[in-house]
Amino acid sequence: MHPVFANLPTTVFEVMSRLAREHDAINLGQGFPDDPGPEDVRQKAAEAVVSGWNQYPPMMGLPELRAAVAKHYAHWQGVTLDPESEIMITSGATEALTGAILTLVEPGDEVVLFQPLYDSYLPMVKRAGGIPRLVRLEPPHWRITEDALKRVFTKKTKAVLFNNPHNPAGVVYSMDDLKLLARFCGEFDAVAICDEVWEHVIFDGRKHVSMLSVPGMHERTVKIGSAGKIFCLTGWKVGFVCAAPALMRGLSKAHQFITFTTPPNLQAAVAYGLGKSDDYFLNMRGTLARSRDRFAAGLKKLGFDPLQSQGTYFMNVDLAALGINEADRDFCQRLVTGNKVAAIPVSAFYAEEPVTSVVRFCFAKHDATLDGAIDRMANLRR
Ligand code: PMP
Ligand code: GLN
Repeated sequence: MHPVFANLPTTVFEVMSRLAREHDAINLGQGFPDDPGPEDVRQKAAEAVVSGWNQYPPMMGLPELRAAVAKHYAHWQGVTLDPESEIMITSGATEALTGAILTLVEPGDEVVLFQPLYDSYLPMVKRAGGIPRLVRLEPPHWRITEDALKRVFTKKTKAVLFNNPHNPAGVVYSMDDLKLLARFCGEFDAVAICDEVWEHVIFDGRKHVSMLSVPGMHERTVKIGSAGKIFCLTGWKVGFVCAAPALMRGLSKAHQFITFTTPPNLQAAVAYGLGKSDDYFLNMRGTLARSRDRFAAGLKKLGFDPLQSQGTYFMNVDLAALGINEADRDFCQRLVTGNKVAAIPVSAFYAEEPVTSVVRFCFAKHDATLDGAIDRMANLRR
């Protein structure tokens, strides 16, 4: 068996969701909303299952969905994409990430990654034979600095894997941050694999800036999106890959032998959904921001000082600030078994497993769920 997988533990999301079920806990661990997602979009999928095409769709995705993705990004992010040569549909962002890594990274190539990092990145880079060059982002601002980039970019750098908005940090990077990274990509001739799955889940009037829109980056960016996040339908594995034609030619070859296609009925529903009015997307953000604020207020009453969440479904708290002298993993174990609330220890997002005192909660839940979790955590101080 390949050692990368032979030695890999089960992903923390699966572990915590299983513990939540076993202990009948409120699950604020794995990131998925209580809300069932927009009914009209689900209805479209149902109609497409019953009356639509259920055989293989085209390998690159339904033409109507590729056109809808181009239109959506032109409208929301000001990027111009040719649906025919620059857009491909994958089975979720997870497939898109794997495909991009397998396409771009050859054994011995260096890949710049930022910690905390989403859990699929590192195993796939290693499996491709890439050498990870890790930058550590520090709370509370989690900013990228020029000094940090200078330390990791070398002439062997093939790609940088960048997540914006960032899970689990909950920060949204600005045009200035992106320009800094873009300068290094240009100087070292590296491709930016940009995981932008949280692009619509941003709060307080913020705007998502895609790496594709940074001057000079169109030819060296692989932008990855996910309908699961855009429509709060996380079980729908429909991903979007956007890249210039020269890159897309290679990416499509990986896709053809990873999954080849993605269920056509879900693609049809996503094509419809991407055309929904601005109000839908803005309301979704507003509803999530209200949940965020409600949960933050609850945490504050318990004595926590939650870190700011600018985007994603997540809010982090530093246990040390509450005077809890306990490793995040131990705390989460105690929380799920004793208090019956599941959360994610942020140390799971680091390569070298540092012990952190930061814990991530998912606030994309109904008020009653959030209030219930806060009630169950009332006795945390010890
Ligand atoms: N990247 C990040 C940063 C994520 O948070 C997630 C999932 N939540 C994914 C990728 C995977 O997206 P998908 O479910 O579309 O595969
Ligand atoms: N992205 C989700 C999270 O961060 C989980 C995805 C998964 O379970 N693989 O919680």
